[in-house]
Amino acid sequence: MTVRPLVIKFGGTSVGGGAQFSRAATITAGAARSRPVTVVVSAMSGTTDTLLGVAEDVAYATDGRTSYGATSEGSIAELHRTLSERHLAAARAAVAPQHLPAVEERLRALLKSLVETLAEPYENPAARRARVAVYGERLSAEILAGAVSTSGVPAAVVAEDPIATDDAFDEAEVDAAGTASRCSRLVAPLLESGSVVVVPGYVGRSPQGAPTTLGRGGSDLSATALGRALGSEEVWIMSDVDGVLDADPRLVPDANLMPRLSYREASLFASLGAKVLHPKTMEPAAEAGIEVLVRNTFNPECAGTRVTEQETGPGVRCVALRRRFAVGLPCAPGHEREAAALVGIGTPNQRDLKRGLKSLRRADLSPLHAGIATAGLVFVVGADAAETALRALHEDLVTPAATLAPESGVVA
Ligand code: ADP
Ligand code: ASP
Ligand code: MG
Repeated sequence: MTVRPLVIKFGGTSVGGGAQFSRAATITAGAARSRPVTVVVSAMSGTTDTLLGVAEDVAYATDGRTSYGATSEGSIAELHRTLSERHLAAARAAVAPQHLPAVEERLRALLKSLVETLAEPYENPAARRARVAVYGERLSAEILAGAVSTSGVPAAVVAEDPIATDDAFDEAEVDAAGTASRCSRLVAPLLESGSVVVVPGYVGRSPQGAPTTLGRGGSDLSATALGRALGSEEVWIMSDVDGVLDADPRLVPDANLMPRLSYREASLFASLGAKVLHPKTMEPAAEAGIEVLVRNTFNPECAGTRVTEQETGPGVRCVALRRRFAVGLPCAPGHEREAAALVGIGTPNQRDLKRGLKSLRRADLSPLHAGIATAGLVFVVGADAAETALRALHEDLVTPAATLAPESGVVA
């Protein structure tokens, strides 16, 4: 392929209803004007939780009754009803009349197959969980393909899951070589025919051909794994925030957008809990040198966060909070089980450590441990002080993006 395909991933919050599917389709169609596009799509927000919840209720039912007293058949019928209503309503809002009957037919077929799957006997609980969980992404992929076609660009859902994995069903490892070969068979020909290819995120195939999942939040990893397999230069992760912010915005309301991050910094932040990215997202990207742009579906003018190989320079870029941190750091006796760790990620030095200690003192906190580790600047505090410490360190320690020189990565 001469022009390298762009991979765009839409998370569950980006496909929460019909209007959101239309918005995602418009972004996709716009990008598809200048290059081949593969879209990775998550389940509509909340769907995976619902699917896994019902799978568990039915699995633990005794004498055909779930712990809520409902019959297993009743729970499955209720799931069918709510998923039908939600997905058919989204399809009707986002898909034009000429494409709608085909989309509705596929949604109904998927929902029927889900009901059969839930009623089937099984031996391996993890394999069954994966078999059920993947329906969320399969359903939303059909709607998005219909919505993209509606905006005038041909689109098709890939015929089989292109991501090859091992058989760790709940959190499978991507098999890079297997994925490359499946992509050249299943995705590349469709792209060459001029179609946008829609791929259900989170989903893989075991060596035996059974459905697997990449772990919760795994659609981000689907996107970079596909990007690596397809030779992409860029992957866009579209979410409901402007990009990667320098602290969890749910805990730090004045968290700021980070325009740039290195693969190392983004991986650390994600593995320490920055929910916006699945912890393994950067592995395929770093291996293949793919630029990852984390952007906002609802604010597409914002450039978002660009993640590349380039380090961002000295100082602390962002602060992660890791609760229930008990990995043998030299804490005061008795605190090991109830401590929280704050990690300042970037390239911190002794001066940053002193600033952090001063900041905690000002907030009337004395850390159980403070030091520079491989992950960054680590402060361990009692669990009760976690959020106060996070806000104090965010305020005093993070070098705002505005003071970073645009390309050099050097603090101005
Ligand atoms: P998606 O459905 O797009 O995959 P997620 O819910 O998985 O979205 O991730 C986006 C959410 O992650 C945001 O709404 C935000 O609340 C949360 N989040 C936590 N930490 C961060 C952070 N550092 N930067 C941006 N978002 C964050
Ligand atoms: N739908 C899956 C989940 O909720 C995967 C994802 O959203 O990335 O975990
Ligand atoms: Mg996510």
